[in-house]
Amino acid sequence: MRDLRSARRLLVITGAGLSADSGLPTYRGVGGLYEDDPNTEDGIPVEVALSGSMFRQRPELTWRHILQIERACRSAQPNAGHRVIAKWAQRFDEVCVLTQNIDGFHRMAGSTHVIDIHGDTRNLLCTQCDWRQSVEDYAGLADLPRCPKCGAVIRPDVVLFDEMLDPAKIADLAAQQSIGFDMIFSIGTSAMFPYIAQPVWEAAQEAVPTVEINPQSTELSSLVTYSIRAKAAATLSALDEALEN
Ligand code: NAD
Ligand code: ZN
Repeated sequence: MRDLRSARRLLVITGAGLSADSGLPTYRGVGGLYEDDPNTEDGIPVEVALSGSMFRQRPELTWRHILQIERACRSAQPNAGHRVIAKWAQRFDEVCVLTQNIDGFHRMAGSTHVIDIHGDTRNLLCTQCDWRQSVEDYAGLADLPRCPKCGAVIRPDVVLFDEMLDPAKIADLAAQQSIGFDMIFSIGTSAMFPYIAQPVWEAAQEAVPTVEINPQSTELSSLVTYSIRAKAAATLSALDEALEN
C-alpha cells in the first residue's frame, strides 16, 4: 500500500480477466471461450477464423464469428474494477491504461488515457474508403456488413490475428515509458504477448514495484513485487477503499 500511496504515475495493463467480472468470457484459461475446444464450429482454429488473411479471403466467415462473439457479449457493462481505474486518474498524476480488451469498457467507465492496443469493436471502418462509424452494438448489422458510402466490406477497428499493431499506439506507450512509471499493474491477463509483458519485465529490472491481480498464476507471477491471487473487480475495490482510509 505504501508504494501505491506514494506513486504518481501508474501503468495499468489489463486483459480479458478484468472484463470476466462483467460476465465476458476470457479467451484462455478457466471459463475461456475456447477452453474446451480450440476449434470453431467450422472446425477451423479460432486464430485462423479471426485472422487478417482469412478476413481477406472469406470475410463472411470471419464476420460470422465476430457477430457470434458480439451477440454473446452484448449486454455486458463495465464493472467496479474499470470504475476504480477510471477514478484513480483523479488521484494520480497519470494513469495510463494499456488494454488488450476490445470491449471499450475502460472508456465507458471514464478512463481517458487508454491505449487499446488491439482496438475497439465499437468502431467500424470501411476496407476501401474513409468511412468510419462508432456503434453501440452490432444489432441490425447484415451477415456481411457493407459500407453505406462505397459498398465495400466493412470491419471492426480491431487487430485480427496475424495483423500488425497500430504504430501510433506503440509510440504512445513508448513515450509514456520513457517518462517512467512509479508502479505497474498487470490485471487479468495471461500476458502471452511480449509487448504486454515487456513493461513488467523492465520494471522488475529497474526495481519499479509491480502488482499482478489474477486468480491463476502466469509467467509474470514470479517476477512481480506483489502477486494477488484474486479476482480483478473485488481486489481493485478493496485497494481503492484502503487508499481512501
Ligand atoms: P486471456 O484469456 O489469455 O487470459 C485471461 C486471464 O485472466 C487469465 O490469466 C485468467 O486467469 C485471468 N482471469 C480470469 N478471470 C479473472 C478475474 N475475474 N479477475 C482477474 N483475472 C481473471 O486474456 P488476455 O491475456 O487478455 O488475451 C486475450 C486475447 O483475446 C487478447 O488479444 C484480447 O484482445 C482478446 N480478448 C478480449 C476480450 C475483451 O475485450 N473483453 C475478451 C476475450 C479475449
Ligand atoms: Zn467504403
